[in-house]
Amino acid sequence: MKKFFAVIGDPIAHSMSPAMHNDLFQANEIDAHYLPLHVKGENLEAAVKGFKAIEIAGFNVTVPHKEAIIPLLDRIDPLAKAIGAVNTVVNENGELVGYNTDGSGYVEGLNRELDLIEDQKVLMIGAGGAARAIYFTMSKQGVKRIDICNRTVSKAEALIKECPYPVPSHALSIQEAEEALGEYDLIIQTTPKGMLPAIGELPISLHNLNSNAFVSDIIYNPLETKILRDAKKKGARIQNGLDMFVFQGALAFEKWTGIFPDTNRMKEIVLKQLGG
Ligand code: NAP
Repeated sequence: MKKFFAVIGDPIAHSMSPAMHNDLFQANEIDAHYLPLHVKGENLEAAVKGFKAIEIAGFNVTVPHKEAIIPLLDRIDPLAKAIGAVNTVVNENGELVGYNTDGSGYVEGLNRELDLIEDQKVLMIGAGGAARAIYFTMSKQGVKRIDICNRTVSKAEALIKECPYPVPSHALSIQEAEEALGEYDLIIQTTPKGMLPAIGELPISLHNLNSNAFVSDIIYNPLETKILRDAKKKGARIQNGLDMFVFQGALAFEKWTGIFPDTNRMKEIVLKQLGG
């Protein structure tokens, strides 16, 4: 019988996950289909009950349901529970089990570009949902230090306090981070500053950037944000957010099928969706 997968969110029409996963099912000769489903908050519980009734094989969860889905599932993986957000659900013998592959997808993508993540002194810009998934996952895996700077410093402090995996960390204001920027090996940009249509915006001044640093922005629209352009001009290595998106999808696909897919193929599909 054909297996059924989906992504739920509100809005959902923009999602690139259906094209990516349907291509992978075809390439791996798996008889399955993946649909984008528009689910409003007030219908989330009914949608999950419906998924159980039709024995859905798995689904992705996107904004704004990543937190609200948690009490509606049968079991939650410990890392997803700590992060407090689920983006991937697997039907395991009739039980809907929630995982978070956003942080691990980010780290998996970074691993392909950068040796020895555990030796890096990291600065993360932003303390929202994506930052939380990345910070908790990297802290669990172990790094030398991760400092967090944010427009609202109290949110960075809260993130550090709530993380169950101890790692040396300080919360900084943007100005403090700008002054200390030269100390960091890896800068991870997680705010929407620089995203379309505000492509001229910079989340932080790169005046003191170390030219040996690696600058990673989780935005993929545009593929090269102003911070990445400016970092490249200073001689730093850069990475855009396409890897995080593709690898979170690859890890979800692996959980559903047991197959780790061809991520270059996935990147091509997403680039096509982005218009080249
Ligand atoms: P979020 O939970 O709303 O967090 C946004 C963060 O950005 C907060 O730290 C917020 O600071 C900061 N911020 C927002 N507007 C700002 C501004 N004008 N100036 C300075 N700081 C600002 O959002 P999120 O879900 O983490 O998503 C953040 C970005 O990541 C989005 O661009 C999203 O598209 C991207 N993303 C990419 C992937 C991927 O797969 N590549 C996955 C998830 C998200 P305050 O705390 O001060 O409000």
